[in-house]
Amino acid sequence: MEAKLSYPPNADLRHLLRFDPESGTIWLGERRMVLLHTAALSGLRQDLIHSVGPVHARRLLTRMGYASGRRDAEFARTTRGALSLDAAFLVGPQLHMLEGAACVTPVQLDFDAATGRFSGEFRWDNSWEAHAHRQAFGLAETPACWVLLGYASGYTSAFMGRLIVFKETCCAACGADHCQIVGRPVDEWPDAAEQRQYFEDDSLLDTIAALNDQVQALVTTIESAREPGISAGMLVGASPAFQEAHALLNRAAATQVTVLLTGETGVGKERFARALHQGSPRAAGPFIAVNCAALPADLIEAELFGVERGAYTGAHVSRSGRFERADGGTLFLDEVGDLPLPLQAKLLRVLQDGEIERLGAETARKVNVRLVTATNVDLEAAVSQGRFRRDLLYRLNVYPICIPPLRERTADIEPLANHLLARFSALHQKRLSGISERAMQALVHHDWPGNVRELENLIERGVILAPQGGTIELEHLFPHQPPGIQATVSARGRLAPMRADSEQALCARILDSGLSLESLESQLLDLAVERAGGNLSGAARQLGLTRPQLAYRLKRQEDKGSEA
Ligand SMILES: [Zn+2]
Repeated sequence: MEAKLSYPPNADLRHLLRFDPESGTIWLGERRMVLLHTAALSGLRQDLIHSVGPVHARRLLTRMGYASGRRDAEFARTTRGALSLDAAFLVGPQLHMLEGAACVTPVQLDFDAATGRFSGEFRWDNSWEAHAHRQAFGLAETPACWVLLGYASGYTSAFMGRLIVFKETCCAACGADHCQIVGRPVDEWPDAAEQRQYFEDDSLLDTIAALNDQVQALVTTIESAREPGISAGMLVGASPAFQEAHALLNRAAATQVTVLLTGETGVGKERFARALHQGSPRAAGPFIAVNCAALPADLIEAELFGVERGAYTGAHVSRSGRFERADGGTLFLDEVGDLPLPLQAKLLRVLQDGEIERLGAETARKVNVRLVTATNVDLEAAVSQGRFRRDLLYRLNVYPICIPPLRERTADIEPLANHLLARFSALHQKRLSGISERAMQALVHHDWPGNVRELENLIERGVILAPQGGTIELEHLFPHQPPGIQATVSARGRLAPMRADSEQALCARILDSGLSLESLESQLLDLAVERAGGNLSGAARQLGLTRPQLAYRLKRQEDKGSEA
């Protein structure tokens, strides 16, 4: 064994090395080399550790060594292809010495190129890297010969045709008098996953880009919550229908006009009202939102206008209503069509006189409130049915803005989805690379009965369900798909289970063909029998029938045939 591990003469390798000062080049075989100062390499190593941290620095340096080792492995074949495999393998350690990395002494080597089995141990003395590390940082806590380990791993991996990872069992950078390395196929190391990462593409830029995205999302969220003016991040959309509504909102923001927002449930009426408030001169004042449909009818008056002590049993203290709390700002009344008729009269008085009366109060109070109302019902129809006061409608409907439903602004779905993705990724601390094309296609073609609110819910669920670092896939958005059935997008662009879709298509083709049910059954039975080579049990299995059931059906077909 020991005899095997002694080096063959290295003349063949020394002859590969050619200095050509005339042309300013150094060559190792056909590969151009360069002579560097270890002090310069050492400085680069130090800068890397300081600027990107030890983990990324280690990865970059390991990969550099790995690339050198891989290239040197070519010389094993070209110089010693005719010698023993051991002699061929030892090209690596011998070249490593020739290149000045360290003095390498083989301790143990056992490999089989055919099966990929590998186990090797080597001793390094005079590692330039251990020396450089100790000079820059003093004693290291963990082995530090990263370029050298990369070289040993790269050389051996190329030689063996599979990833072989070397680790140091002791290192001169940690105070030992030499370094010792052991190499195994990566999967034989208990920390294989961690080891692999030192050989993979550096993902530092990706990490920085992802962090940058998160910061941008946070900044947008914070800005849209604080900045006056209708900021870009607050309302997202570029479709003509959306832009029209947005332009109307922008023009109303600077004025005192009473705005009525209409549109289906979930289109984002409160978001529009909030944007209007923030774009208005009242932005510094309060924004108070009330959903008239969510409050019980007997509480809504006290809630809106406030209560004077003793107004009714249980009114022990006076308290202000939402109108007073919105003083100097904006009051948003959602689903104003649900306001009871007596309160409609009271609301009308506020609009006419700018005064409110608390429940049980003797006198009126002045309030300075901009009113924004919203409805998802047809107020004209409510007027003709006697459920809404016509005079109030005139007062509220001075400046109507209709917010289009999401299905009428499909061009906005993708930017909205991406905006929401950034928002919810930041909220749930998820780093996701985006929404898959198939999932996006399904979003664009969905009907959106719940409008933007439904989209928000879907994206938030997708962000939670998608794996960290991954993509939001179709099943993360629509997880109620039946298990085992792949969803697809139908010809009409709707989400549909793939199997049912093809079954439906098959049925449609049969119907179109004009084939009768009876004739279809007859042909189906015949085909199954034919495919089973006349074996009725086999044919029955294909059809999901028992043998007697099949025999009965065949008999019936035969009888009908003879009748005809
Ligand atoms: Zn070392």
